[in-house]
Amino acid sequence: MFVKEMSREECQSVVAAADLARLACCKEGQPYIVPINYALLGNCLYCFSMPGQKIDWMRSNPKVALQIGEFASNRQWKSVVVRGRYRELAQTEGRCDERIHAWSLLEKRPNWWEPGGLTPVPREISGASAHVFFCVEIDEMTGRAACPGEL
Ligand SMILES: Cc1cc2nc3c(=O)[nH]c(=O)nc-3n(C[C@H](O)[C@H](O)[C@H](O)COP(=O)(O)OP(=O)(O)OC[C@H]3O[C@@H](n4cnc5c(N)ncnc54)[C@H](O)[C@@H]3O)c2cc1C
Repeated sequence: MFVKEMSREECQSVVAAADLARLACCKEGQPYIVPINYALLGNCLYCFSMPGQKIDWMRSNPKVALQIGEFASNRQWKSVVVRGRYRELAQTEGRCDERIHAWSLLEKRPNWWEPGGLTPVPREISGASAHVFFCVEIDEMTGRAACPGEL
C-alpha cells in the first residue's frame, strides 16, 4: 500500500460524490465535531440544521473544517479535508433565492431534513422558521488516498 496526495480535481470529485461530512468548529479554543449532510455546488457546501451548539459556535467563529471520505478498506481509502467559512443563508426579503436553491439541492436525498431536524428532546420552536440553511465557502482542500500496491 502507498499513500499519495490528491489533486484539487480528485478532491473535488470525492466531495461531489459524497453527501456526508464531519464538520468541526471551534469556540474559545475548544473544538466540536459532528456528522452532517451537505450538497456541493460550485465552491459551496450547502447544509440544513436546527439551531443548537454548532450553529451558535459557527456564528461566533465562522472558521470551520470538514472531513469527507471514501473508505473501502484500511488499505484503500480517500480522505479530503476542507477548510472554509460558515455563511448563513439569510431569510430576509429579497435574499431568499440562495436558501431556496440550497433547499432544492438538499431535498434530492430522501428524508434529507430528518438528521438535522430531529433531536433527543423536542425543542421549543419560537417562530415558524427556526431552521437554518447555511453554506461553507471553501477556502482550501487537501486530500490523501491510500492505494494497494507499491509506488
Ligand atoms: C449520518 C448523520 C447525518 C446528519 N446530518 C445532519 C444534517 O444534515 N444537519 C444537522 O444539523 N445535523 C445532522 N446530523 C446530526 C448532527 O450530527 C448533530 O447531532 C445535530 O445537528 C445536533 O448538533 P448541535 O450542535 O445542534 O447539538 P445540540 O442539539 O445543541 O446538542 C449539544 C450537545 O449534544 C451532543 N451532541 C450533539 N450531536 C451529537 C452527535 N451527533 N453525536 C454525539 N453527541 C452529540 C454534544 O455533546 C453537544 O455538546 C446528522 C447526524 C448523522 C449521524
